[in-house]
Amino acid sequence: MIKENESKKDYLEWLDRGLSKVPKTESRDRLNVPSVECINEKNKTIIQNLNQIADILNRDPKHILKYITLRLATSYSEIGEGRYILKGRILDKQLDSVISDYIKAYVECPVCKRPDTKLSKEKRNIIQLVCLSCGAVSPVKSL
Ligand SMILES: [Zn+2]
Repeated sequence: MIKENESKKDYLEWLDRGLSKVPKTESRDRLNVPSVECINEKNKTIIQNLNQIADILNRDPKHILKYITLRLATSYSEIGEGRYILKGRILDKQLDSVISDYIKAYVECPVCKRPDTKLSKEKRNIIQLVCLSCGAVSPVKSL
């Protein structure tokens, strides 16, 4: 709890310093994320381009998969060459929508809405989403 108050204080101090001190880095305003490419088989779904999407989002593909499996109540296994199998028949549209939720929750800065962020180490149930564009640090739930 103390830690959380401290970061809140830091954040308020940062706001006080004013926008002129915000580090200006080259940043993308939005991401160009491709649609999920998947193959549906009887009781499984093979995702073909998750690593490519993870690269663009600058996230660990395993973190994205964890989010997908929690949201869709399924499980995954890795079959090599950047391909993953999800249990059950899941449509590409469903996966696109889950990835877009993932971006809102774990990639986009809630302050400036830019996507150039990174996740800092997990502490208890909180990860910090650090924005490389505006410098904001926002707590997000760990998976
Ligand atoms: Zn930001």
